Amino acid sequence: MIAQPERLGVAGLRRALAARECSSVELTQHLLARVTAHHGLGAFLHVDGERALAAAARADQRRAAGDDAVLLGIPIAHKDVFVTADAPTSAGSRMLQHYASPFDATVVARLGDGVPGGARGAGAVTLGKLNCDEFAMGSTNENSAFGPARNPWDTSRVPGGSSGGSAAAVAARLVPAATGTDTGGSIRQPAAFTGTTGIKPTYGVCSRYGIIAFASSLDQAGVLAGSAEDCALLLSAMSGHDPRDATSAEHPAQDFTLDLGRPLPGASAARPLQGLRVGLPHEFFPAMLATDVEGRVRAAVAELVALGAQAVEVSLPRTELSIPVYYIIAPAEASSNLSRYDGVRYGHRSAHADDLLEMYRRTRAEGFGAEVKRRIMIGTYVLSHGYYDAYYLQAQKLRRMIADDFKRCFERCDLIAGPVTPSVAWQLGAQADDPVKAYLADIFTLPASLAGLPGMSVPAGQGDHGMPVGLQLIGNYFGEARLLQVAHALQQATDWHRAVPPGF
Ligand code: GLN
Repeated sequence: MIAQPERLGVAGLRRALAARECSSVELTQHLLARVTAHHGLGAFLHVDGERALAAAARADQRRAAGDDAVLLGIPIAHKDVFVTADAPTSAGSRMLQHYASPFDATVVARLGDGVPGGARGAGAVTLGKLNCDEFAMGSTNENSAFGPARNPWDTSRVPGGSSGGSAAAVAARLVPAATGTDTGGSIRQPAAFTGTTGIKPTYGVCSRYGIIAFASSLDQAGVLAGSAEDCALLLSAMSGHDPRDATSAEHPAQDFTLDLGRPLPGASAARPLQGLRVGLPHEFFPAMLATDVEGRVRAAVAELVALGAQAVEVSLPRTELSIPVYYIIAPAEASSNLSRYDGVRYGHRSAHADDLLEMYRRTRAEGFGAEVKRRIMIGTYVLSHGYYDAYYLQAQKLRRMIADDFKRCFERCDLIAGPVTPSVAWQLGAQADDPVKAYLADIFTLPASLAGLPGMSVPAGQGDHGMPVGLQLIGNYFGEARLLQVAHALQQATDWHRAVPPGF
């Protein structure tokens, strides 16, 4: 087999598999061994080697028979909020610790074997399920009921969250790509903290069918991988209208790889981004932004300019307000979504109750962790009579104003650039005493989430302590193809995305 296949990424593995330089079984064995060797990262919650190897063997047979599905035989893993028929799904919660779904999420089916009775899948092999904050609530993966995931760049630091296991696994080259979900930044922020490339598409591009709900009007699936090209390969397979999700956009599936490597319309190969107006919101560069992060982000923007783009000043005046708005709307929706965990229909049921009310109480007290309880209480409060108008309704109004601010920006620019996070990844436990500190650090990812816009984190080199920094790119609605094209152009000209954490 070829040396270090874990460095090839999805596109490279596709070529190697097609050229018969390795088989899916060999590749799967190799990556399973890496998963075991780096068990201490806490990236995986569930690994099923036998099932993965059987799937890899089937993929090799399909290839031998002439099948050329786009991800055929390529090992990936799923954030543990995507339900899977072949593996347990916990959402990082004790509440769902032994939960077994009878079906696959649409995204899982499309990446793997296909939707039963529907279209053929892309043929990826699933190695297992990845650690995450409980019900995707968090920014560090420390809210997982099964222990934190660690950052491969420095294992005393957090990998970000809530898709922390996905980010750690991709950064450590345990899998070339993983799924994630992003409600308020949970793909972009862990991608930034681990030097991986992550994309959250426009709300509605990926089906939410089979994704354990946190905040339904914000939750969106996406990818973490080693490059924009790899993200494009997975996103093309995952996206497209799903009749089983009423909020799924009625957009045909797209091939996001088509424009990669092409100059923008009217631009030349030497200056492929000629004509692109990159908006820099002045609120994305506040005094509290760490200087190492600002330096890397400005260097990445300078690269875009060197490739022909033009930087323009724009304004997102309600950037700071996106924090209270999100932390009202997301808990409100969560409190409603999580009411289904009553000990009757799904998951854990307390063994210590004599009557129904006591059973509900104890089930929820035992099943949920502290952050989930906090959000259920906040959500219930802001939705209750007398407070609804003061909090929830105001937040909804502001949400619309935030979306309108973006609309105005996109009259002056084609995409928006800025930091993903105010600082590089912090130490495990650093925010244990104060959950609000973590909420404040979501400032740059929340605006695009509230507006439902697509966003990416693209590696932009290393800041203090050798920790990765991410450049955030935000596109207009359904602008993910352009986002990926621009990120790919940047990655053709730089090698920040190729940096691998020492020891991996
Ligand atoms: N950090 C944010 C939160 O805790 C975002 C989480 C997410 O996107 N799932 O809610």
